[in-house]
Amino acid sequence: MKPTIIAIDGPAASGKSTIGAGLARKLDYLYFDTGVMYRAVTWAALEQGLDISQEAAVTKLTESLSIDVKPPSQTDGRQYDVLCDGVDVTWAIRSPEVDAHVSPVSVYPGVRSALTAQQRRIGLRGNVVMVGRDIGTVVLPEAPLKIYLDASAEERAWRRYAEVQARGDRSQTYEDILANVKSRDAIDSRRATAPLKAAPDAVIIDSTGLSIEEVIAQVEDLIVQEP
Ligand code: C5P
Repeated sequence: MKPTIIAIDGPAASGKSTIGAGLARKLDYLYFDTGVMYRAVTWAALEQGLDISQEAAVTKLTESLSIDVKPPSQTDGRQYDVLCDGVDVTWAIRSPEVDAHVSPVSVYPGVRSALTAQQRRIGLRGNVVMVGRDIGTVVLPEAPLKIYLDASAEERAWRRYAEVQARGDRSQTYEDILANVKSRDAIDSRRATAPLKAAPDAVIIDSTGLSIEEVIAQVEDLIVQEP
């Protein structure tokens, strides 16, 4: 029996999206990246000129925002379209400004509860690979297969740097990206609500030095072992 819900958590740029999307394609499951929701809220807050430190205002915005993830409308390297109140923000949510502010926004319990409720509703429909920071611990603790994907901060930053370069963005150096990855990890793992951590029953995979195919093969072995 294939597990109908696969939860993948891990720190920034640990390969969750690539592995999660590849696995979902192979299993013919929905791939859902919860990070886009936190990024979309952060983008909207910056766009509206909100002060990110104003928790009540950012929470209120989250509760009123409509975030949609749809099949890709363009062949520009995107895996999906992200729409925020109807505006295509697929690439805008990957900007250095959003990278710099998304973890402080994700600390707010009201922001998390609004987004977690939507994620849980989607996840419980089943046949889904959901990736994030708290999927195995908070969003879908009943997931029969939980993976915690890790890699050294340096390797993760190199991978992200290569992705950014491939899209023609020359505004960020490797050092900028490494600093952002480390700062997000620190905030994400120290927050009081739903911190980044492996669920007690998660399988921990360290992908340092492994290719995408090797990691997917390890996860597929775990699926075969499921009773
Ligand atoms: O996965 P990604 O790096 O795109 O996520 C961006 C940020 O969103 C994370 O650094 C974290 O602050 C937040 N996030 C979260 N919980 C999730 C997914 C993402 O707090 N389930």
